[in-house]
Amino acid sequence: MATTFTERAAGRRQRLRQSLAEEGLDAYLISNPPNVSYLTGFSGDSTYLVVGRDRDLLVSDGRYTEQLAGECPGLETHIRPPSQPLTEAAAEVVLKLGLHAVGFESGHRTVAEHETLLGLTPAVSWKGANDRVERLRAVKDDFEIGQIQKAVRFAQQAFAMFRAMLRPEDREKELSDAMEGYVRRAGALCTSFPSIVAAGDRAALPHAPPGDRRVGEADLLLVDWGACGRFYKSDLTRVLIRHTNSAFGRGGNRAAFEAKLHEVYPVVLRAQERALSRLRPGVRASDVDAEARAVISDAGFGPFFNHGLGHGIGLEIHEAPMMKPGSTAVLQAGMVVTVEPGIYLADWGGVRIEDDVLITPDGCEVLTSVPRELEAMVCEW
Ligand code: ZN
Ligand code: ZN
Repeated sequence: MATTFTERAAGRRQRLRQSLAEEGLDAYLISNPPNVSYLTGFSGDSTYLVVGRDRDLLVSDGRYTEQLAGECPGLETHIRPPSQPLTEAAAEVVLKLGLHAVGFESGHRTVAEHETLLGLTPAVSWKGANDRVERLRAVKDDFEIGQIQKAVRFAQQAFAMFRAMLRPEDREKELSDAMEGYVRRAGALCTSFPSIVAAGDRAALPHAPPGDRRVGEADLLLVDWGACGRFYKSDLTRVLIRHTNSAFGRGGNRAAFEAKLHEVYPVVLRAQERALSRLRPGVRASDVDAEARAVISDAGFGPFFNHGLGHGIGLEIHEAPMMKPGSTAVLQAGMVVTVEPGIYLADWGGVRIEDDVLITPDGCEVLTSVPRELEAMVCEW
């Protein structure tokens, strides 16, 4: 059985190739870097992949000759000279291979690149689409699931270090930077995205950029972070609550803060649990979103849940399927999604609880295991 990324990649190209005939095409030109990685195992960039009916070829440059040989053994390569732009090299390859009808990734091509390509290949008919590979990527195989589980483990180990090291004088930005170190120390390549660390009412911004606020000035700390293994990513959010015994920053508003916390936190948790109880193959992603949203609306916080319920994770931090109102995605076994309801109140703060979940043949399996109950979130700082 194929056990490495590279071995899996050949099977993926084979699956993609099957739709060439249906679309009446000779080849696909794959230009979106995560899609190139998915189909080849290549971890670099500035490289296109041609998937033809009986021949696949990578168009790259001299910086990657060695890396391509190591990561994609057996795959044919066309190495362009430094003077030749990638788009021109791709056009040259298309002409050399005698391709007449080629599919391209319309979501990942600038107008300038497209015009160049059309100008150099006037006899070629180009057909754009933006989700051919993304649709394949939405359903993970057991190798990919194992890689995501690894990325979850890295993130969880990093969070334990983060919690243990929290001091009242730490600023949001310093903590975001520190998380990068913890994630790498845990074994990850890097964080999946710049960690969000938002103290107090700054947590009312779902994607707050970390600033100068000191943790000691806040009763609540929202942390949204993830780890990236060699390729695959995780994505979690927890809200830490300052213990009332903490010596630093004890303020007069604590009672009001706690009253609101006990109103908001259980609702977010219930919304997440409702969503988890609905996740299974055949269910529409938009319906799961609606179920969780109803819990929050029924509690009177509807207008304060201002984003989608979740998203697929994998090679990218946001990928198919999207779980939000209007999404046309239908869940399938093997999809891995985040479930992250939230309530954001200006002048108070925000609560989001985000976990990573695998859709299984008869329901779902939560891959993340950091406790999420309110009592477990209380922390000394
Ligand atoms: Zn997140
Ligand atoms: Zn997320």
